[in-house]
Amino acid sequence: MKQIAVVSGKGGTGKTTITSLLAQTLDNKIMVDCDVDAANLHLLLKPNIIQSTDFYSGKKAAVNPFKCTECGRCEYVCRFDAVNRQQEGGYKIDDLSCNGCGACTITCRYEAITLENNLAGKFFISDTEQGDLVHAALGIAEDNSGKLVARIREEAFVLADEKGIDLILIDGPPGIGCPVISSITGVDLLLIVTEPSLTGLHDLKRLLKLAQGFKLPSVVIINKCDLNSDLCSQVEAFCKDQGIPIIASIPFEKELVSIAHEKDVVFQTKAFNIIKDSQKELISRLNL
Ligand code: SF4
Ligand code: SF4
Repeated sequence: MKQIAVVSGKGGTGKTTITSLLAQTLDNKIMVDCDVDAANLHLLLKPNIIQSTDFYSGKKAAVNPFKCTECGRCEYVCRFDAVNRQQEGGYKIDDLSCNGCGACTITCRYEAITLENNLAGKFFISDTEQGDLVHAALGIAEDNSGKLVARIREEAFVLADEKGIDLILIDGPPGIGCPVISSITGVDLLLIVTEPSLTGLHDLKRLLKLAQGFKLPSVVIINKCDLNSDLCSQVEAFCKDQGIPIIASIPFEKELVSIAHEKDVVFQTKAFNIIKDSQKELISRLNL
């Protein structure tokens, strides 16, 4: 099984659009949208959800009003101001503030507080014209996106194994934090999508440092390469200096985002045809 992760560091480089173009050119793969905080690959792939699963992570405190004597000790001990006295009497926990530390449960002499499993989001297995897509939606203000990413990658792996598919295409989240690390750990190839802007170059450098830390082979696509020739040259010089191959440079096409999901017309775009050519390079680098 081979895994390729598409990442960008900076948001807005066109990473997901390029992933969707790759999805249309690569055969026999499972796709995973690891940007669980703000998933958007499904907007381009138009999935039909066939399985939805609750994702539980962490704990939240809950007060049992029948046991609570309203002593107020839990409110005093909570460092997160998550315990609120109600106007009508009794105490309630604010789920958004509670971090599940459990201090209140230890403090309560009446065993009136318990820690409950926290429903942090959902993940889905969907059918698309380009193949199966595993994606997720993390709940509002929930953390643990790294865990959810690990979970959906696991699901994709099992699905690919069941179906005899030997390629997983991952659309990674922006940044270089925990969800990105969770998205790229153990992949066979990192495809970094950058753009000729100062922030694009800055984040390319940060991402490469991360990739080198994990000893991940990397290649680069420069998207919107014609928007700033000076900065494009700087990106090219940096990649050359680091020994990172640039497998494609894609000019800006205003209409691309709006038609990226339309199979019948997207093949006419320059971007699609450039990606189609560069996927041969990806396949050979993956030894598929
Ligand atoms: S510590 Fe226990 S009994 Fe006291 S207010 Fe909190 S939940 Fe109620
Ligand atoms: S579990 Fe921790 S954060 Fe949550 S209400 Fe209790 S003391 Fe506060």
